Amino acid sequence: MRGTMMEFPLTLPHLLDRAGFLFARSEIVSRCPRRTTTRTTYADFHRCARRFASALTRLGLQPGDRVSTMMWSHATHMHLFFGIPCAGGIINPLNLRLHPQELAAIANHASSRFLIVDDALLPVYESLRNAGASFEKVIINRYAGGEVPPGFLDYDELLAAEDDNFVYPKLDENDGAAMFFTSGTTGCSKAVVYTHRSLVLHGLSLAMADCFALSHNDVVLPIVPLFHANAWGMPHGAAITGAKFVLLGPNVDPESILDAIVEHGVTFAAGVPTIWLNVLCALEKYPDRWKFAPLRALCGGSAPPLDLIRALDKRGIHIMHAWGMTETSPLATAPLIKPHMRDYSEDALYEFRGKQGLAVPLVELRVMRPENPEDENCEKAAEAPRDGKTPGELEIRGPWIASSYYNCPDQSHRWSSDGWFRTGDVAHMDEEGYIKIVDREKDLVKSGGEWISSVDLENSLMGHPAVKEAAVIGVPHPKWQERPLAAVVLKEGAAATPEDLRAYLAKTFAKWQLPDAFVFLTEIPRTSVGKFKKTALRQQFANWSWE
Ligand code: ADP
Repeated sequence: MRGTMMEFPLTLPHLLDRAGFLFARSEIVSRCPRRTTTRTTYADFHRCARRFASALTRLGLQPGDRVSTMMWSHATHMHLFFGIPCAGGIINPLNLRLHPQELAAIANHASSRFLIVDDALLPVYESLRNAGASFEKVIINRYAGGEVPPGFLDYDELLAAEDDNFVYPKLDENDGAAMFFTSGTTGCSKAVVYTHRSLVLHGLSLAMADCFALSHNDVVLPIVPLFHANAWGMPHGAAITGAKFVLLGPNVDPESILDAIVEHGVTFAAGVPTIWLNVLCALEKYPDRWKFAPLRALCGGSAPPLDLIRALDKRGIHIMHAWGMTETSPLATAPLIKPHMRDYSEDALYEFRGKQGLAVPLVELRVMRPENPEDENCEKAAEAPRDGKTPGELEIRGPWIASSYYNCPDQSHRWSSDGWFRTGDVAHMDEEGYIKIVDREKDLVKSGGEWISSVDLENSLMGHPAVKEAAVIGVPHPKWQERPLAAVVLKEGAAATPEDLRAYLAKTFAKWQLPDAFVFLTEIPRTSVGKFKKTALRQQFANWSWE
């Protein structure tokens, strides 16, 4: 017998209308390029997003057309996150920190018909165009108050020409709504198309008390740019809950972040560990400059060092460590501490917080390894024991996990025959389901048949009082296949020798796991979203001589 419930598609117009009606007065605050602040409301958001949907329809948008954005994080970008899909289009935010050549390849892959660009980013658009990208129409958002040059459309004028009577097209919940590209830390970017349904469900999960507990009482600051990995679902989570939304524009330096936290009473912020490391350095440098109420800090993208979690706790910033990927919308785990764990020692609890947590509701995880690990040629996989130590590849499935890449020829190896996505991350799981990412498969140091976790070494090194940043890579070795090399950035005015660092690590690591070389750099190369770019480091030390 079939149930007797309504068929109610999970689509973004529902979220947009909910936010605009129920939370009309909630604010969206944006920092502008000249560090002034503009305040708008969810009522404005509702009106502008719908008007833009109407304007796009008038410009000839067809269902499923891609519309790229090249914008900083601000209210207008938030409007487009909803306006484009609510017109039946697919928003494709371009990561403007990428090289123009890479950006042009992405824009061409998305084959977007329209582009909306901040006036301040017109030079980036020009280099994109010179690199071979083309759009039918380019619309300028006068974010920095500039002029609209001939040949472009003016976003404000487009909106002014519309009324408020737009009727949403009929949307299926499985229609595409947003297209994001993986950030390419380990290789070429690949495109993932989120659906209305996946965005609604993922956004809703953020509001669960046992996940990130986003609520109407929150003031949400996505430090992660809106163009990275679905902005970690923040626009959708904010719209569902009606939380006040604070957007930093181009200013993501630690001082601007801390100023915004104080000025707007931020209760929930989201950023990668390097952002939080910089925030910690600023707080250490100016201990009395910022006074704020305790806040929750979602931290993902790579694992935060335990000492960072500890040090920020003391300063009222509670790290909520989570794991995810562009392919997983991205949030797939949450840092739930169960009641019986409250009796754990302080150290044990911090160990736990360094893990990536439990699968969030509706998401399933498993750790797979060869059925017979002794047999090098064994192709059959089996689930690894849930013992908190046996590593294998992490696999995932759920309603907001990608089932394929968009237009990518060689992808079948990423999905198992029974539909699980193979993440490329090596992890172990304990008997209660907590996962710990050991490393990315590509970043593990393969030394004499043993695996060494680069993540564990670098996170431990970053606990040394003189070390600001550390990244560990495997460098080819004639005898051992690879050996670890640690690239280290020291804190301003601090000193440490390779021997000091080796002795420090030797307290917690076996001798064969210790880096054989320490090199001191002024900075670690980063990806466009602030992660350590190990491909660049590997290139830099490709000809390293162990002699
Ligand atoms: P890219 O793979 O290019 O960096 P993503 O931004 O999608 O693109 O990053 C996803 C990857 O980031 C994951 O596969 C994992 O290796 C890493 N990652 C994300 N969150 C965490 C975390 N909390 N701890 C360790 N690694 C993480």
